[in-house]
Amino acid sequence: MVRVERLNAGYGDVQILWDLSLEIETGSITALIGANGVGKTTFLRTLAGAIQPYSGTILFDDQDITRLPQTWRARHGIMMVPEGRQLYSGLSVEDNLKMGAYTRRDREGVRRDLKWVYGILPVLEERRKQLAGTLSGGEAQMCAVARGLMADPKVLLLDELSLGLAPVVVDGLIRVLREIHEKRDITILLVDQDVQIALELASRGYVFVNGRVEMSGPSTELMKNKEIQKAYLGI
Ligand code: ATP
Repeated sequence: MVRVERLNAGYGDVQILWDLSLEIETGSITALIGANGVGKTTFLRTLAGAIQPYSGTILFDDQDITRLPQTWRARHGIMMVPEGRQLYSGLSVEDNLKMGAYTRRDREGVRRDLKWVYGILPVLEERRKQLAGTLSGGEAQMCAVARGLMADPKVLLLDELSLGLAPVVVDGLIRVLREIHEKRDITILLVDQDVQIALELASRGYVFVNGRVEMSGPSTELMKNKEIQKAYLGI
């Protein structure tokens, strides 16, 4: 379980997150919803340890990790798949995947996971020698998710999974995510511009407005909420 209590964070003097509290249950898929610029990415980056909060607490399985560095969090299974892929474009697909496992010492486990990742995303195996910078948008996104999986994460933070991808590619990614979630029992925190996709995948959602949690609840309820339908679902 990840529990965030009264988190305040931002960039220098510019505060983005205000007194933010939320809970992510172990093994769940949770969605963060909100308009552009409300702080969803900032929140993911704070959880991953890329940004140090001004105040507040982040608990991971009851341990206070608020001041622990990103490398510690990565080693203990908190892994962010950033928006815009951020692959090593001059390295092959396979080398990118291996980079995802850089904190791991269990070489046998890394080999097994590489096989597993190729099994669920065969396109990556077909292209394992290709430079990551030459992949299509969908392939690059799959490679980014796969690189995150190579870290053997407990908590996967996914930023803008479907951005810029064709619907059929998004469908494939969703299928893969469901499979990963079922087989590995990974906790997933998901941000997606496409609120419909995010709420369909997640069991629970949090709605951010101006860096605060405005509403939260089971996805089924949020999807029925008139305000959410109007603001984010175009209904
Ligand atoms: P989007 O859906 O557009 O990605 P978001 O909800 O993920 O938006 P953030 O990326 O967290 O929002 O950005 C929140 C605010 O913080 C924005 O106003 C953004 O311009 C600002 N911001 C982001 N990164 C930095 C930075 N490195 N320095 C200063 N301000 C930043």
